[in-house]
Amino acid sequence: MAIKRPLRSKFIFYLILSALFLTVFGSLDTYRVASKELKIDLLLRSKVLSSAIHQSSMIANNMQELELVAEKILSSNPAINTLIILSADNSRAVYEVHTKSYSKEVSMLLKHAAKSVLKSTDPSARLVENNSLFSIVPSNAPLKKKISNSKADTQHQHSSRDSSLKGHHKEPASSAKVSLHEPKTLTENNSTESVAHAGAVLFAFDQQMIQSDIFALLWRILPTTLTGVSLMILLCYLFLHMLVIKPLSAIKVTMLLQQNGVESARAPAQSSIEIDVMSKTLNRMLDTMREHENVIKAMAMTDSLTGLANRTLFQSKLEQAIKQAVLQQQRFAVFYIDLDKFKLVNDQYGHLAGDKMLKEAAKVLTDHTREMDTVARLGGDEFAIIALQATDITAIQLRLENIISGIAWACHFSDSDINTGASIGVAFYPNDALEPDELMKRADSALYQAKSEGRGVYHFYCEKTA
Ligand code: GH3
Ligand code: MG
Repeated sequence: MAIKRPLRSKFIFYLILSALFLTVFGSLDTYRVASKELKIDLLLRSKVLSSAIHQSSMIANNMQELELVAEKILSSNPAINTLIILSADNSRAVYEVHTKSYSKEVSMLLKHAAKSVLKSTDPSARLVENNSLFSIVPSNAPLKKKISNSKADTQHQHSSRDSSLKGHHKEPASSAKVSLHEPKTLTENNSTESVAHAGAVLFAFDQQMIQSDIFALLWRILPTTLTGVSLMILLCYLFLHMLVIKPLSAIKVTMLLQQNGVESARAPAQSSIEIDVMSKTLNRMLDTMREHENVIKAMAMTDSLTGLANRTLFQSKLEQAIKQAVLQQQRFAVFYIDLDKFKLVNDQYGHLAGDKMLKEAAKVLTDHTREMDTVARLGGDEFAIIALQATDITAIQLRLENIISGIAWACHFSDSDINTGASIGVAFYPNDALEPDELMKRADSALYQAKSEGRGVYHFYCEKTA
């Protein structure tokens, strides 16, 4: 079975999980976009740089001037670790310069990559990834240029070639750089009119530096991503709280109040249809339950045949009457009523006729009972009335006589000589007894007296005769 946790904790858990997923996914995507952007930037940059080299190659008076340009480019672009200028026909390197991170293998790979790129029919500049990142920028169409090829230049170029062949490197403009001259002249003849231009320009980039550039970009973007994700989580939580947790809590509170006996508690209406349906269904269930409960309660307190209060309700009403009488310093009377010779009715006319007679008697008793009084059927053919504020004895006597005559009339059988009716025993609170049971006993005792006096009469409890 799944572990039970509050809805709030579950939401927070899944939101954090989603946030982690979004952050990882966002970072990877940022990394992908950043590296793509950086590569485009490197290609553009290498195009600009090679264009500068080509321009310089056209106006340079000698190889040294071009070298200076190349070294300057290298020193101002730390991401480039190798720069190679090919001859006009791209057949050989006329100049090669490296940073300290130079690797002979990278240089060879770059030249190899350049060979296959330059052989292809598409002459555009492109990036090649082969362990390292290379940029190969082919030259534009050869341009004619006048260049004065002094003897001194030729001599310098030859000496450079020699130093290169001997492995002596020319000191670069930047101390961090090492030039490996392929001492080739831009013009191989000594004529003043010559074709002097550089061929393709090749770049190899420092892979580590590129990576660190990408990561730097990532670090710059990450706070924004995290802020965005955090705000999204916060908003999601607020919406979930507003739309789900809060309405469900209101329903839960209603249920708890009901459990604690607050019968009037009902779930409030909700703005979301689904939860509102839940609220309304719960309220309907509570209403139905309350109705059923009231019916059951009424059944438990009522006599099913006559509809009068039963013994249980009478008992509690009697206790209430005593409390009230104590508070208001009043007295009340209990009438204990028993039908006379009722057995004979049952025997002679049957049980249904007996029931009918019980209902008639109940009706007479109800007619002679005020709103504030209580009339009950205690069982069999026994009834009782609590007559509150019983101060006027004459009025009580009149009521008792009316009850007796009313029942005698209602229960009269014209075709029979059965002399039915009712006898009543009366006891007063607090005069005759202070406790409910004692008071009932006294009323019963008075009833016994009434029966023994010949039935169809009432009798007030009297200690002497009891
Ligand atoms: P008494 O004048 O001394 O009161 O004599 P009685 O014949 O009325 O005798 P008693 O009060 O002892 O008898 C009550 C009878 O009521 C006994 C029982 O058969 C009958 N009875 C009890 N409950 C019912 C009922 O629900 N319906 C009917 N028809 N009869 C009942
Ligand atoms: Mg009786």
